[in-house]
Amino acid sequence: MAFNVSLTGKTAVITGSNSGIGLGIAWELARAGADVVLNSFTDNDEDHALAREIADTTGVTARYIQADMSKGDQCRDLIAKAGACDILVNNAGIQHVAPIDEFPVEKWDAIIAINMNSAFHTTAAALPVMRAAGWGRVINIASAHGLTASPYKAAYIAAKHGVVGMTKTVALETAQEQITANAICPGYVLTPLVEAQIPDTAKKYDMSEDEVKKKVILERQPSKEFATVEQLGGTTVFLCSDAAAQITGTTISVDGGWTAL
Ligand code: NAD
Repeated sequence: MAFNVSLTGKTAVITGSNSGIGLGIAWELARAGADVVLNSFTDNDEDHALAREIADTTGVTARYIQADMSKGDQCRDLIAKAGACDILVNNAGIQHVAPIDEFPVEKWDAIIAINMNSAFHTTAAALPVMRAAGWGRVINIASAHGLTASPYKAAYIAAKHGVVGMTKTVALETAQEQITANAICPGYVLTPLVEAQIPDTAKKYDMSEDEVKKKVILERQPSKEFATVEQLGGTTVFLCSDAAAQITGTTISVDGGWTAL
């Protein structure tokens, strides 16, 4: 059967894909043959160069489209500008760590907007396009924090739980339309988002940054290893394959056993 990973002829839009997991997913989808649309809120030569490098290496069409995922109208415009959207990967995300009674309101609003509301807007814009094509994949990059909680990350955890709930609803609304919706829940992946938290944690616990990685971050992950962006990309490609056609409304953890604890 049916482990069809040829995505030739499909167009994938990956939000927040000029670094980290989103960029890794774009590479793996392109290696599987999909045309890819990269995105972030910036519009630098480096952003466009990332798309050129993917196109030159893999032979697919790769474009970079600037759009700020904190703004609903720009989320919807991204899908319109892409011109096609068979695969939508909602990946854009930010993080802020603070106790809830000290949590800055503007950080709360930004995290909810970028990590959760953007997925509502892009999905709403993409579903008619997928229905017209008769096939679609909505893949939301949630988190182990979409299934469990930990202190000081209230906005992130609320947003990621929201994304998991929305994913299930989208799956039910599209269940008979050759469209699937699933959430991938990574544990820790060493990307700029995680690296940004290391210096403060090192200061707080009077540790070296290396000790923070081993003793604080990987402490939660039974494998004691970071997942890689390529592994997240591979999981995304799997969800686009024929073998995954009946997988919808679920979460796939890529977390070294974290949520099994
Ligand atoms: P990252 O900081 O490398 O990537 C975040 C991406 O989002 C970047 O491309 C950034 O430009 C983009 N982005 C931020 N604000 C944006 C905006 N307003 N509009 C458009 N794009 C915007 O971090 P990452 O670790 O690769 O995170 C990617 C996703 O994976 C996030 O949703 C994050 O919550 C999730 N995640 C990461 C980890 C991890 O350990 N790294 C674990 C679980 C979930």
